[in-house]
Amino acid sequence: MNNGINLQNCTIQSVIKENSDAGLRWDVLRLDQVHPVISGNKYFKLKFYIENAKKLGKKGLLTFGGAWSNHILATAAAAAGEGLKSIGIIRGEMPEEPSSTLMDAASLGMDLRFVDRSAYRENSKTEHFGLPIYETGYLTVPEGGHGAAGVSGAAEIMNFKGISHYNLIFCACGTGTTLAGLISRASPGQQCIGIPVLKNAYSLKNEIQAILPDHAIGKRWELIEDYHFGGYARRNEMLISFMNEFYEHHGIPTDFVYTGKLMYAINDLVINNFFPEGSKILALHSGGLQGNRSLKRGLLSF
Ligand SMILES: *Cc1c(COP(=O)(O)O)cnc(C)c1O
Repeated sequence: MNNGINLQNCTIQSVIKENSDAGLRWDVLRLDQVHPVISGNKYFKLKFYIENAKKLGKKGLLTFGGAWSNHILATAAAAAGEGLKSIGIIRGEMPEEPSSTLMDAASLGMDLRFVDRSAYRENSKTEHFGLPIYETGYLTVPEGGHGAAGVSGAAEIMNFKGISHYNLIFCACGTGTTLAGLISRASPGQQCIGIPVLKNAYSLKNEIQAILPDHAIGKRWELIEDYHFGGYARRNEMLISFMNEFYEHHGIPTDFVYTGKLMYAINDLVINNFFPEGSKILALHSGGLQGNRSLKRGLLSF
């Protein structure tokens, strides 16, 4: 893609230094810096969908998401940057006051179509081109950029310079596509660990197995549950104050749906001596900061 995306924009920031009392090193790869709108992992997951759409001569991309979806906004921006159209199938009735996410997506030219929740559930995971909400000439991107093309794109995160220094690579998991990409490129000395943000770790495990490329089956990877804070987009005061403290100490903003829970989890595991001495941990900051706009103003200090 040529819409202002450059991996070199991303920095690696230290949270715990190598020679610390903790006996380990913890860094954060700031993929949130890759692009102001197509944030974090979403650029990688969309990359090959966009390439495929162009190769197939499609007019645009059609995808799915909720009112605050990072994926919806990233798709709108990525398509616009490539001269493609985009259609967003949005879960739920059209609200009286659309979210900032949807307003931004619309201003990037995305055609928003609202479907009620049950119809959405039926169709977001399938490719029902026959329905009136679908259009010919558009490439359907599964919700969250799930699927083989998403995995291949996410694998490119592992091209980041210096990634071979780490033996534990952490990311937050929604669909698990990003984690599958990381696993597919991990070296034998590296283990990838996902923190699910939904209460679905059992089915998620199977879904990740199912989308792993053949050569990656049998690699070491793991999901650590118990850090979903009650489920998708659920939060409590503990999470919010952790995010504020994390920002204060390290200057790294996080989002309450994904990366806040990820950093909370790693911090909690460090406190509980989960990691062997000498561990070198890299946490992927997968972006998503725009979603914090759904929170009451003033809750976060950044
Ligand atoms: C979408 C998203 C994820 C989840 O990625 P999956 O590949 O679906 O697991 C993680 N972090 C952020 C910030 C996201 O927006």
